[in-house]
Amino acid sequence: MTSPATLIAGFLAIASLGAFLAAQPPPAPLSVAELKDGVYWVKGGSGANTGFIVGRKEVIVIDAKMTEESAQAMLAEIRKLTPNPVTTVVLTHSDGDHVNGLSAFPKGVTVIAHANSRKDMEAAFKDPKFSALLPYLPNHTLTTGSDLYTDGARVTMLYFGPAHTSGDLVVFLPDQKIAFVGDLVFLGRDPLVHREKGGNSFGLAETLKKILALDADTFISGHNDPLTKADIQGLLASIQEKQAKVKALVQQGKSLDEIKAALGVVDAPGAAARRWPSFVEVVYLDLTQPRTAPVIYDPLKR
Ligand SMILES: [Zn+2]
Repeated sequence: MTSPATLIAGFLAIASLGAFLAAQPPPAPLSVAELKDGVYWVKGGSGANTGFIVGRKEVIVIDAKMTEESAQAMLAEIRKLTPNPVTTVVLTHSDGDHVNGLSAFPKGVTVIAHANSRKDMEAAFKDPKFSALLPYLPNHTLTTGSDLYTDGARVTMLYFGPAHTSGDLVVFLPDQKIAFVGDLVFLGRDPLVHREKGGNSFGLAETLKKILALDADTFISGHNDPLTKADIQGLLASIQEKQAKVKALVQQGKSLDEIKAALGVVDAPGAAARRWPSFVEVVYLDLTQPRTAPVIYDPLKR
């Protein structure tokens, strides 16, 4: 199970990272598990789960941990398994617990992300304390989807529109039937949607339907152990149920406070409530003050 420390770390505001980390217990040790045929899942350390694919000539990493130290620990684990160089990092999205370890990677590494995630990272890395990350801004961006091949094995990057952020990539390995889904799937807490990054709760539901349509049986999310389709179906059902309830109450003319009270929502204390509003609040805002439309792209129909 994901430790509370890891879960909390996932919600960190980049700006308050230093102060927060100083108050945190040390992160769980890094552990690496092979899922199938040279595809690995990395748990622990500081930041979200990551993954990597060992090809005959190179290694492709999915997400970069939250600190240079944790990313270095991951790279050391990779070196124990293969002498092949890490050539590419694919980012599932721009959140700090997935990207702030980039500075540990070799100079000149190819960093792939959705164009909207690059914009979010450019904004975050303007802070002088992240200047070491500036050379690692994505140098290859996507707007819909793309394939990457390593030793003939396909790595398919899919974008389904605004969801957790406006730049979430699903990294799908059709040969191994594995999908890395970043924070599009987040069990054990309220689904997290960053409206400030163009995320959209209805887009999240549509994206989960597309993820369920993939011919995959193992799903690696940012903050859970490996998941199955049944886990994601359960998450989608609970999201749709909440959205239907909020929609009905909005149609009855209820206010946000009335809706929160009716659905038993208790906000996080203090500033955390503004940084990470409840899913019910996000749904309410998506219905009444939409910032983005749910689904624009369907890369599977290419
Ligand atoms: Zn995230």
